[in-house]
Amino acid sequence: TSRNRQHDSRTSTQIKQDFEDLCRDNKYKEMLSSRQKLPAFTARDEFLNLLDKNRVVVVVGETGCGKTTQLPQFILDSLIMSNVGSTASIIVTQPRRLSAISVAARVSAERIEDGSVGYAIRGESKQGANTKLLFCTTGVVLRRLGSGDSLEHISHIVVDEVHERSVDGDFLLLELRELLKTHPTLKVVLMSATINHQTFIDYFGGAPLLTIPGFTHPVTDIYLEDLIPQIKYRPSASRYSRKESAEVLQAFRDEHKAKGLDDASISAIQTVMRSDRLDFQLIAEVVRHIITDPNNKRGGVLIFLPGVPEIRQCTDAMRTALPGGQADVFPLHANLSNDEQRRVFAKTSKWKVIAATNVAETSITIDDVIYVVDAGKVKETQYDPETSMSRLVEAYITRAAGRQRRGRAGRTQPGFCYKLYTRKQEANMGNFPVPEILRVPLESISLTVKVMREEEDVKLFLMRAIDPPKVAAMEAAWAVLEELGAVDLDGKLTPLGRHISALPVDLRLAKMLVLGTIFQCLDPVLTIAAALSSKSLFVSPVDKRDEASQARARFATAGSDLLTDLNAYDTCIKMRADGKSQSAIRAFCEENFISANTIRDITTLRNDFIGSLTDLGFIPLHSTPSTPALNTNSTNTNLIKAVVLGGLWPRVARVHLPKSAIKFDRVSAGTVQRSNIAKEFKMFDLREGRVFLHPQSILFEVAQWRSPFVVYFQKHMTSKVFLRDATEVPLYALLLFGGPVAINHVGGGLIVGTKDSWIRLRAWPRIGVLVNQLRRLLDIQL
Ligand code: ADP
Ligand code: MG
Repeated sequence: TSRNRQHDSRTSTQIKQDFEDLCRDNKYKEMLSSRQKLPAFTARDEFLNLLDKNRVVVVVGETGCGKTTQLPQFILDSLIMSNVGSTASIIVTQPRRLSAISVAARVSAERIEDGSVGYAIRGESKQGANTKLLFCTTGVVLRRLGSGDSLEHISHIVVDEVHERSVDGDFLLLELRELLKTHPTLKVVLMSATINHQTFIDYFGGAPLLTIPGFTHPVTDIYLEDLIPQIKYRPSASRYSRKESAEVLQAFRDEHKAKGLDDASISAIQTVMRSDRLDFQLIAEVVRHIITDPNNKRGGVLIFLPGVPEIRQCTDAMRTALPGGQADVFPLHANLSNDEQRRVFAKTSKWKVIAATNVAETSITIDDVIYVVDAGKVKETQYDPETSMSRLVEAYITRAAGRQRRGRAGRTQPGFCYKLYTRKQEANMGNFPVPEILRVPLESISLTVKVMREEEDVKLFLMRAIDPPKVAAMEAAWAVLEELGAVDLDGKLTPLGRHISALPVDLRLAKMLVLGTIFQCLDPVLTIAAALSSKSLFVSPVDKRDEASQARARFATAGSDLLTDLNAYDTCIKMRADGKSQSAIRAFCEENFISANTIRDITTLRNDFIGSLTDLGFIPLHSTPSTPALNTNSTNTNLIKAVVLGGLWPRVARVHLPKSAIKFDRVSAGTVQRSNIAKEFKMFDLREGRVFLHPQSILFEVAQWRSPFVVYFQKHMTSKVFLRDATEVPLYALLLFGGPVAINHVGGGLIVGTKDSWIRLRAWPRIGVLVNQLRRLLDIQL
């Protein structure tokens, strides 16, 4: 989009004149006078001076001091006033879409919408001929670099929130360090909260540091052990984890008894301490306590929660707990629409309660917050080498994050931070976050590097990152790319690899989507890929496990957990299409243990996928999931299974059915019962020995096995290795889709095969060769 946009036709002199006019505007002056109160303003000259003399400058400052909104404007104004405004083109990267949009909106307002400010996020951009300051996500810049754009017209790149250490952020710094060598005029500014900034200084060969003095007011900490006696809260939940040992609890008990804490409070604190889950009643109670205390000054209450579902649960809990009419409750997270987001900043005469994710930690500032409630948890991706899968897990925050959260309370006046954890728990929190690149699988980043730098050795390149990943992790990633057919055995990028790297989803699911498009079974494959990227569609409450699994069994189909979920999703969607009321659908979901939230998430993701596939040119513009031409084969179950296998290969296991399993007779009087025999299934992974089917798999309901092979999405190690999300696959699916599949646009052919032998489907029907291939590969008798 940036390349098609029109260029500013004004000369530097005209730009300067326009800016001088703006400076005379009363609204601008008013804005400016409030901007000038920010600490960033005191550092303005020093900043410009450093930037003048250096190509890279590192800036640190407390959140809210004006780094994001002011520094890019300082650069722009100074270029304009030096009469080189026409060369100004400043990119400011943001780690999240939400902050890119909201910060752009703020800066644009500070410049009285003069058109100099724009934003670009994936799939959406707002910029015009006069745009000189572009706020965009890190991903957008990486994609520009990846598509061969050398950013020669960019004068400055400001990288914000570098302390977050996301894979993308680290990767961008790696790229920028290279780009500085080939782009002679480029200047780079790194902005960071006051965490570990020395790392960045060293990485850029001793770049100068600018520290913006902070202004913070004192914040009073109220820990869990102070809080519970104050509010006399008695948690009812008793879901314990084993995080705190008996000795720790006893020591806590003794210590607090000595301090005069009553037994009931101590046991309440311990319940909260040991619970695996957030206690939303407690959070609501804390907020109620804050807003009903007549001594408390009215102001914003900012609650930090780990994720969107928790925000939803928390606002639900508050709705019943808070006295009516006294407080406005707002959610704040990265998936909100612009309007929903803006509401958070609006002035209100009531108490303003904001339930937020960590987006409110550093990137978004809400001015009137006096009270912070910190639940102490965050969701982060963790890489499980066992399954070679990444998943989101809830973890304690680091102390660095805790300090950030706390700091949000003392921005404009003295504040309070209510911590839902004990002092002891805080002492055990990690110090700084582990850089993401050290804890996630690397296939996706490796493929991106390969796409961007086809001639380069990916491993050697990644070794130059701030924290180089482990060699074993990079090798494992490369093996996955080979198996996927994203790279060939000579280490070259394949066309398939190029395509799937552009899809914003797990690479295996990306491949599945591409295959689903080519084989014209788009609708079901969209749902399957979306379901595998979402939380479980069926809920299984601990106390109703049997009922839940019976409910799921009613949707069982085709010997596949995935097609079963598809069936349930389609049933719900059809109810909506048939004009059933919202409440009827909700009742149906509840009755059948289907999560309405997951239904919604899947629908959203399906649309995202459609958008990406359209961008890639795989499907025509204005396609919908149900466009007939894309769904010729959408009722062909075997083909869908084959496409699933094509994506998930080589996650295949061979089932060893017990002899007695032949006597399946479990269907009686319309209800399906679990067969004891079926529970004895033994699976043998094609690669790693013995594995077991997850007890909740629908495959226990399969009466007639037509092939001894199952493909699965996840492998979990608990007492044994369990496979989740399994699908029985027909032999032909293995035959055709097992092994790397390369889509060769030039030849228009499809290639299937294993690592050491490739066969062109073009040569079909040389079935004999394929059969031999399969025999050798799987060691089976056909
Ligand atoms: P930093 O990047 O250093 O954390 P920012 O530049 O984001 O700080 O914010 C500086 C100040 O600008 C904030 O303290 C706040 O007062 C103000 N501000 C930022 N965004 C908005 C907004 N959307 N509406 C009103 N004020 C805002
Ligand atoms: Mg900022």
